Amino acid sequence: MLAHPFETDVIRTSAGDLTITFLGHGSLMFALGEKIIHIDPFSRVADYAILPKADLILITHEHQDHLDIAALKHIRTPNTAIVLTELCDQQIEGGIVMRNGDISVVQGISIEAVPAYNMIHTRESGDPFHPCGHGNGYILTIGDTRVYVAGDSENTPEMLALRDIDIAFLPMNLPYTMTPEMVAEATRAMRPGILYPYHFGSTDTKQLIDLLVDQPETEIRIREMA
Ligand code: ZN
Ligand code: ZN
Repeated sequence: MLAHPFETDVIRTSAGDLTITFLGHGSLMFALGEKIIHIDPFSRVADYAILPKADLILITHEHQDHLDIAALKHIRTPNTAIVLTELCDQQIEGGIVMRNGDISVVQGISIEAVPAYNMIHTRESGDPFHPCGHGNGYILTIGDTRVYVAGDSENTPEMLALRDIDIAFLPMNLPYTMTPEMVAEATRAMRPGILYPYHFGSTDTKQLIDLLVDQPETEIRIREMA
């Protein structure tokens, strides 16, 4: 048995311990008891052939580093539920489509789809990298703990309006998602107990820590999520 090469954190919830494995980029794995949840599995960050099979897979959008058919093949079983967007659904059989704003209970977990999109950062053509309506972030309610994984988004009005978020994963890779200033603004609005910047590419996480020195109620945790 190989030693586990990834960092993990254990979060205590009223539904038991939630173990978060930081696979890298936008890819996370949650374990709650026997239940395994994969988020945006991406073959470049991990060998999914040796990772636990999924009970639930969440896919935020159709970009190839978030929707990776090869990674899905390794962790999907006949009993796996895959929650995804309409555009992802065009490439995968048997998924459960959630639209922005939908709330659903899947595999016993309450899931809320939050819009994920750009307002400022665009391609040279002027089109946003992530057009409004295409992508989802997801809020998972696990016992008394609400975990928000934002997907590829900026600090949209919908994000700023979120409350009662215990753990937030906010992306910071540029130019596709948020600057440290945008992440700081979202954090001040949402006031999560724990903030994990994730999918941050080469953006300096120290900048974010400096911007949030006056927000002691949020613990900022930096993990290997470039
Ligand atoms: Zn993307
Ligand atoms: Zn991305």
